[in-house]
Amino acid sequence: MAEETIIGIDLGTTNSEVAVIRDGRPVVLPGEDGDPILPSVVGLDPQGNLLVGKAARNQYVLAPERTIRSIKRKMGEETTVALGDQKYTPQEISAIILRTLKRRAELALGHPVSKAVITVPAFFNDGQRQATRQAGELAGLEVVRIINEPTAAVLTYDPHPTEMEQLLVYDLGGGTFDVSLAQVENGVVEIRASHGDTQLGGDDFDQLLMDYICDEFREENGVDLRAAPASKARVLRAAEDAKKRLSSEPVTWVEEEFIAEKDGRPLNLKMELHRHDFEELIRPLLLKTLTCLDQALSDGKVQAQQISKVVLVGGATRTPLIHKLLEERLGRPVHSEIEPDLAVAMGASVQGGLIAGIDLGPILVDITPHTLGIEALGELYGFMSEHHFSPIIERNTPLPASRTEIYSTVHDNQDGADIRIFQGENPDTRYNTLVGEFKVEGLAEVPAGNQILVRFDLDLSGILKVTATERATGLAKHVVIDSATERFRKRQRSDAVDRLDAVMSTAAEAGSLALPAPGSGGAEEAGAESVDPELRTALEAAEAMRTKAERVLPSANDEDAEELRAMLEDLSTAVNAGSAERIRATLRELEDLVFYLEDA
Ligand code: AMP
Repeated sequence: MAEETIIGIDLGTTNSEVAVIRDGRPVVLPGEDGDPILPSVVGLDPQGNLLVGKAARNQYVLAPERTIRSIKRKMGEETTVALGDQKYTPQEISAIILRTLKRRAELALGHPVSKAVITVPAFFNDGQRQATRQAGELAGLEVVRIINEPTAAVLTYDPHPTEMEQLLVYDLGGGTFDVSLAQVENGVVEIRASHGDTQLGGDDFDQLLMDYICDEFREENGVDLRAAPASKARVLRAAEDAKKRLSSEPVTWVEEEFIAEKDGRPLNLKMELHRHDFEELIRPLLLKTLTCLDQALSDGKVQAQQISKVVLVGGATRTPLIHKLLEERLGRPVHSEIEPDLAVAMGASVQGGLIAGIDLGPILVDITPHTLGIEALGELYGFMSEHHFSPIIERNTPLPASRTEIYSTVHDNQDGADIRIFQGENPDTRYNTLVGEFKVEGLAEVPAGNQILVRFDLDLSGILKVTATERATGLAKHVVIDSATERFRKRQRSDAVDRLDAVMSTAAEAGSLALPAPGSGGAEEAGAESVDPELRTALEAAEAMRTKAERVLPSANDEDAEELRAMLEDLSTAVNAGSAERIRATLRELEDLVFYLEDA
């Protein structure tokens, strides 16, 4: 039987794409207009019909109030955006984009698809990842894995069969920036370090250029084009077009007729732009990216001269100044053999193919880009403080990762403990991000020093489960850090699916959007609720461990190999029994042996 199709989706701030594996190679699927790039823009036309993609982007100039762009920047926030007379969560808007891509894949493949790998910036925190997963579910997709964008890009790269290589992935899209170090050896890709900025991208270049144009125009005409939404949107669009032209030409013009009025007289915009001036505008932002690069090199303990290849990802990397600065910093030429806009979707489909069991070559070892830990009483700035950040999983730890730390109560007869979970690198929790909190209550009435075990399980999608257990009694409480999911219980979800069905029934995107057949929503939702999150985490950990174990098996001596095989068999029994607890117990034993064999 043919393998199940798992589509790969790059859900970008500016553009999105969908790819599948065809004849063993990743292929990005075009829409009906032949373009594989779907602008991540959703809007309503004057009649209230839904527009997705280019049609929505094109009307942004005329109707910014009826058009939503860059929704990815709001993912994970507890907010809504207005579209017509309705309000939507960022997940719902993203779901409209995802449904459009799902439909595109279904039309190209000629059969329904229900599973996807979706990429996110390496720097997305847990809430942002959860929101992405929910968007997938609302779109009728089971999100089998969320992977980091730079990681996906590496998966499209054909590594040297035997030599170890250090790759640098420099990913600058419309809204986010990531730089990652990947080590590739014997077909195994290991992301050694990642750094980035979730609020930096090519859109910022557009803003800077728009401000430059508007300032010059105001100087000359005494009118600020940013004052009216429609003229502002026109200049922004013209700025983006000019920016792209400046990637291949040293000089360009922006021309917009009747852009404003003064004393009843129409004003035209006509301005010459030089690449050199544009480069000076964006240079400070690019220098910020180089600081991130230095940080990633230092985290990954890699020297610039050890990098054997620079993989450029994201449309904004077509900017010549980026090539120049990177070449100066790394002392080697940079080039992108794969279209920088398409690499991430292609890599996501490679990951989907690997999960579906297609033999495609590289295996992936991903890392966590943040340190995760809890707030505890401890030393801070030389004093005892309740804001001490106690790391449990350190930044750049390979996923999946499970770690436990022991903490103690500070008061006699303390019957509860607040577990406040943070991510970040600062020893003071007030400078890190609170990602979740819960309380363990009903602790034994004993003197101070009652031990609480805090366990962090971070799965392959970067989703965290935290369990706190009172050591003496086994009293346990856990939380899955999905603050967004908490807000979004099942009923709300099915309401949201209904709302999306309704709004999408007016879909009028020129090209790629069509409604799922009536009734197909049921099957899609069933897919979305299948495995409970605890079991899913355990199954993913089991899959990763099996891969690791099989890798060390050939080099183990007979006795160790036999023990390893027996344990793998136990693991397979536990997986078949569908018991998260048994899987974890077997994994703990396996972990020790594999660790020992890896070191041997
Ligand atoms: P992505 O998120 O990868 O689709 O990248 C989108 C960003 O790349 C947007 O800010 C685009 O304006 C920018 N971009 C696309 N083509 C070019 C180009 N030729 N030169 C500079 N920036 C570009």
